[in-house]
Amino acid sequence: QSKNLGRNRWVFYSPEMSEQLVQRREMERALSQAVTRDELRLFYQPRYSLHSGKMDGAEALLRWQPSPPALVMPDSFIPLAEETGLIIPISDWVLQRACRDALSWPDRFYVSVNISPVEFCRGDLAGRIATILQVTGLPAERLELEITENVTLERPEKALLIMQRLKVLGVRLTVDDFGSGYASLGYLKAFPFDGLKMDRSYMKDFPHSQQAHSIVNGIIGLGKAFSLVITAEGIENAEQFAELRAIACDEGQGYYLGRPMPAVDFMRLLETAEQNEAINETGQPG
Ligand code: C2E
Ligand code: MG
Ligand code: MG
Ligand code: MG
Repeated sequence: QSKNLGRNRWVFYSPEMSEQLVQRREMERALSQAVTRDELRLFYQPRYSLHSGKMDGAEALLRWQPSPPALVMPDSFIPLAEETGLIIPISDWVLQRACRDALSWPDRFYVSVNISPVEFCRGDLAGRIATILQVTGLPAERLELEITENVTLERPEKALLIMQRLKVLGVRLTVDDFGSGYASLGYLKAFPFDGLKMDRSYMKDFPHSQQAHSIVNGIIGLGKAFSLVITAEGIENAEQFAELRAIACDEGQGYYLGRPMPAVDFMRLLETAEQNEAINETGQPG
């Protein structure tokens, strides 16, 4: 119907509006070529076990580099990728790249990948993951998928089925940004999650504000009651790190522990960490 109105319908829009639409089209076109033009980059942010205090994995975070050296951040193009369906080929690239990169890390390290709610219920996610694990050879238990809570809200029955298939493969499933959405506590029980990542907004006044402290402590207690591995994201200072360890949060991630970095830098960080560990074990001076 609106097509029949042809070009004339643009008169109903303000000049800024049509400019935005043109920009959107242009971005969509550019994004559709991002994979074939090799413009996607994966950054890795280290994750630490708060029990041992040692690094034990990394979260893969996507960037787009259409014209180096500038990087486009995921919040600026993931929504467009979701609306246009480009998220599927992009996510396939992310999963393959992440699994391949993780193979050159120590065996005990795992890699976590963000899965968009849009791709979760569209297509055959479990089938795609199975293929990627097979092609890359990464053991399933070294792959963790981060899923935001709205996935389970929109189509709960379908989400449960997909999650069960993913569990059969052996991958870990984690709720991302826990506490930022509208999900109720019941879904932690209803869905086969292995872990929970507290939204980084909970770190805002933590640990100094008594209220913030109680809430974080409460989420940790809640997660433990459901036998979930609890991760704190957005750890930005030493006090937060120390207090989270004191209240037995399992895992931590944040600028204080390490910023997202290119794969080569993450490899270099790993090598230094391994060397330091070896030195500590043999008691030789660093
Ligand atoms: P997320 O999964 O919750 O990722 C954490 C975000 O917080 C990252 O932003 C990370 O750089 C940032 N962050 C980490 N530590 C700190 C800290 O201490 N302080 C602060 N202020 N921020 C911190 P980034 O890389 O811009 O990613 C934003 C979001 O984009 C991610 O949120 C995730 O939802 C999405 N995303 C990233 N990569 C992918 C991907 O490959 N696929 C999909 N579907 N989504 C992705
Ligand atoms: Mg995440
Ligand atoms: Mg998060
Ligand atoms: Mg997020």
